[in-house]
Amino acid sequence: GTVVIGGGTGFIGTALSNTLKRKGYDVLTVSRKLGPYRITWGELNSKGLPESTTAVVNLAGQNVLDPMRRWTEGFKQNVWASRVNTTQYLAQAIKEAPVKPKVFVSASGVGYYPCGKDEEFDEEGPGGDFDFLSRLCSDWENAANLPHDLGVRTVKVRTGVVLGRDGGMIQQLIFPFFMGFGGPVGSGEQMMPWIHIQDIVGLFIHAIETDNVTGVVNGVAPQIITNRDFAKAFGRAMWRPSFVPLPTFVVNMMFGEERAKIMTEGQKVVPAKALDTGYTFKYPDITKACTEFSRLINID
Ligand code: NDP
Repeated sequence: GTVVIGGGTGFIGTALSNTLKRKGYDVLTVSRKLGPYRITWGELNSKGLPESTTAVVNLAGQNVLDPMRRWTEGFKQNVWASRVNTTQYLAQAIKEAPVKPKVFVSASGVGYYPCGKDEEFDEEGPGGDFDFLSRLCSDWENAANLPHDLGVRTVKVRTGVVLGRDGGMIQQLIFPFFMGFGGPVGSGEQMMPWIHIQDIVGLFIHAIETDNVTGVVNGVAPQIITNRDFAKAFGRAMWRPSFVPLPTFVVNMMFGEERAKIMTEGQKVVPAKALDTGYTFKYPDITKACTEFSRLINID
């Protein structure tokens, strides 16, 4: 069958598309730009889903941590709309489809949960209502809700920091770490909920293929670490020191305190549902993960 992926051109979307194609699925991306195996959001709204669609995924979203964009009301509106509206468009297309897909898997973030070191949160944990990012996660997840009688299984993946060579945080950090200027953010004592790119891809496919996976799924590795643990593991894997801290006030100045929280604070999140439904992590610990994306030569 066909998997339709909103934001299929991004860091996670590209990796997911490639793995799905290798598994024999057809992939159709919904994008702002035209291209092969792509439709635009306008085309989705007017023509709907192809009849062969068996699964719909949403991974679209304006990059929250774009250092070139100031954290203004306008940019926040962009960040919100690029997630909530795209999710609504896909939900609407599913409602209107004469032949329903089996499943709708949409991204969300661990920003749903409160930051801190005291409590560990599984999918039942509280949150979603205390700051801009947590409320964004609620609105984003609600946009993915479908009427029950449609019979389409819905999954929302609350994703942690995705670590992989080709995008996200590692792409930003690989040069400073390579130069020996790597280190923790601030004290490094804050939690860093993380997942290897191959495991977030694996979890999306697990959600697509496993009938008893429904509702919220935490997209994080089973090993709970701090930001300092990450900096140490990444430094070691690169054979570089990692003791130059990035001061919290610098991160706050660059990004604005509200979104700098993604780096200066963190949540303790456990992947309870992934493990309960039989997902096996390829990269359960940070040392193994860092070794994979620090290799100088890609052997794949
Ligand atoms: P990317 O930034 O790599 O890509 C997301 C895609 O979204 C882009 O390829 C783009 O597709 C589309 N997009 C960007 N801006 C807009 C916009 N203004 N309107 C509509 N579409 C837009 O993201 P990732 O792959 O890293 O992440 C995917 C999703 O997962 C995001 O929603 C993100 O918030 C979430 N997530 C990611 C984490 C991470 O560490 N990477 C952590 C937690 C959550 P195109 O140009 O083709 O339109």
